[in-house]
Amino acid sequence: MLYALSVHASNRYAYAFRDRGFGGYDRTPCPSCGREIATPFPRTAPRAYEVEGGARYPDFLEFTGVPVGDFVCSARVIDLFREAEISGLGEIESVPVFRVKGAKAEPVYQFASIIGRVELDLPAMKLKKKNLCPACGRFAWSRERLYTIPAALDMDTWSGHDLCRVGDFPAMTVCSERVAEVIRKHRLTGAEMGQIADMFRAF
Ligand SMILES: [Zn+2]
Repeated sequence: MLYALSVHASNRYAYAFRDRGFGGYDRTPCPSCGREIATPFPRTAPRAYEVEGGARYPDFLEFTGVPVGDFVCSARVIDLFREAEISGLGEIESVPVFRVKGAKAEPVYQFASIIGRVELDLPAMKLKKKNLCPACGRFAWSRERLYTIPAALDMDTWSGHDLCRVGDFPAMTVCSERVAEVIRKHRLTGAEMGQIADMFRAF
């Protein structure tokens, strides 16, 4: 059983809105289809987040900036995941956070890459890729308003990891029951486990 793992800050929690070291995008039209290809410029500085929002720091820190999908959590989460032998985490990097206003000392978070993978079950969702460009790989979805479509995962494509990214949606994370147990047992804050069907609605 997999859950949609969503990290959304409530009013009481801080969230990160910018990575100071992100260098922006080079935007060039694809010579074949004309759609804009955004390629990140090299980083200008090591990863560092600017935060705003509530005064409290949650265990899972929402990141609303670009590029989308940074998975950011406290060192305690990483320790608990390791203790429980949770799989699917790749490289982990300590990242300082800064309040734009106020000079209080802030915590250090952990940026983690997620190496587990699972694909959507497009036929079950009556969803197709169309206008696929052979040069740049960009495509359009056959339906609009994806948030109205109950999501489904193709479990034959599941890498078997406890933490996975969902194909074509780099900001979406799914987790196993084992991850859910760690989050519930230790009352880790900032993340919620939802039904896969509701994945786009919660997104
Ligand atoms: Zn193209």
